[in-house]
Amino acid sequence: ENSHIQQDMERLQNCFAGFRQKYRLIKRIGEGTFSTVYKAEDLLYDSYDNSWDLDKEAEKWSPPPLKNNTQDYHSQSQSHRRRKPKYVAVKKIYVTSSPSRILNELELLHDLRGCKSVCPLITAFRWTDQVVAVLPYFRHADFRDYFRDMTVPDMAIYLRSLFTALASVHAHNILHRDIKPTNFLYDPSSRRGVLVDFGLAEREGYDCKPCVCHDDPSIRKAKLRPLVNRDEKGGYPREDTRPSRRANRAGTRGFRAPEVLFKCTEQTTKIDVWSVGVILLTILSRRFPFFNSADDVEAMIEIATIFGRQRMQAAALLHGCMLETSIPTIGKSGFSFEGIILWSTSRSETKDKIAEDEKLAIQFLKRCMELDPSRRISAEEALQHEFLQMGLE
Ligand code: ADP
Ligand code: MG
Repeated sequence: ENSHIQQDMERLQNCFAGFRQKYRLIKRIGEGTFSTVYKAEDLLYDSYDNSWDLDKEAEKWSPPPLKNNTQDYHSQSQSHRRRKPKYVAVKKIYVTSSPSRILNELELLHDLRGCKSVCPLITAFRWTDQVVAVLPYFRHADFRDYFRDMTVPDMAIYLRSLFTALASVHAHNILHRDIKPTNFLYDPSSRRGVLVDFGLAEREGYDCKPCVCHDDPSIRKAKLRPLVNRDEKGGYPREDTRPSRRANRAGTRGFRAPEVLFKCTEQTTKIDVWSVGVILLTILSRRFPFFNSADDVEAMIEIATIFGRQRMQAAALLHGCMLETSIPTIGKSGFSFEGIILWSTSRSETKDKIAEDEKLAIQFLKRCMELDPSRRISAEEALQHEFLQMGLE
């Protein structure tokens, strides 16, 4: 296993001319579906301080000032004998990713340079079909190691940082599409985080057809067609002749918003807010992963179990879907978040009380997990919410 990683690192360093003069690969830090990420030392970057100051970084990656300070900066630091290493994350994108997908990720990152709490792109290079992106290395802890210990104010600070990133991403009309703990690198000791991984991100309104959820309720009703056509006898037809509905469903299991599951063809930035809601529910309930579905139907069942049949059916209708179920665990009106959180943290609904600050967190959770995206809180509004204001104290 280890020698296999070493071999991969060797191959990467040999692939690009001059790579060894610029970067020294240290270790593998991430391996996902679309890439392998390595920690590396930036050999040409001289600096006195060890940690990336993200605000300073953001300034640096925004359009350069008229006066060019970079030269002075380098000559100054070279005259200084002691040099602290500067680290970068080298993201090797798998050759199986389509060129348009890779270009999309790099283009969006380029658009988002200078956004607070978004990990900036330093550079990227390509040799034949191999593309590598270089990002400043951000020290972070594994979500599984800290989420159980988070206090309510800790949650507010964490989410404030995440929503700060999302507010600027959304202001650029970009949907991240894959909000989850492994894509938000958070350092509990400095209480700062950066959003990474724009591999599934897309521009709002790009590649979308009108969905009835944007229609007037009366028009929506008229257009309604059942998810399953019954024949005259009330049975299910052998063959479904209706045209299939296609919608972008990219994202991670358990974090997909209901409108994604219902194949809404006009998805908005609100899908990211739902995913943040799932993260908050995870932290409050101390359960990770909170949702654990194998496919979209199971995911619908999980959400329906919480919200109840009635509200889930209304949410389906919003996107022109009829939802029918006889699953006994899906009640008519579901469960309250308070009940779920007490139960999952082994507290009793009758004996234990929810603290005031926890109540505020749950109130905020409900705003993030509104089934109807048009009623769900936006990232910008979230930053103004009393709960996230707590993160400022
Ligand atoms: P993928 O598309 O394969 O999920 P990501 O961009 O999410 O790629 O990176 C995968 C993992 O690599 C992250 O979850 C994180 O652990 C690590 N990583 C990515 N970027 C950085 C960075 N800038 N600093 C530190 N670690 C990083
Ligand atoms: Mg990722």
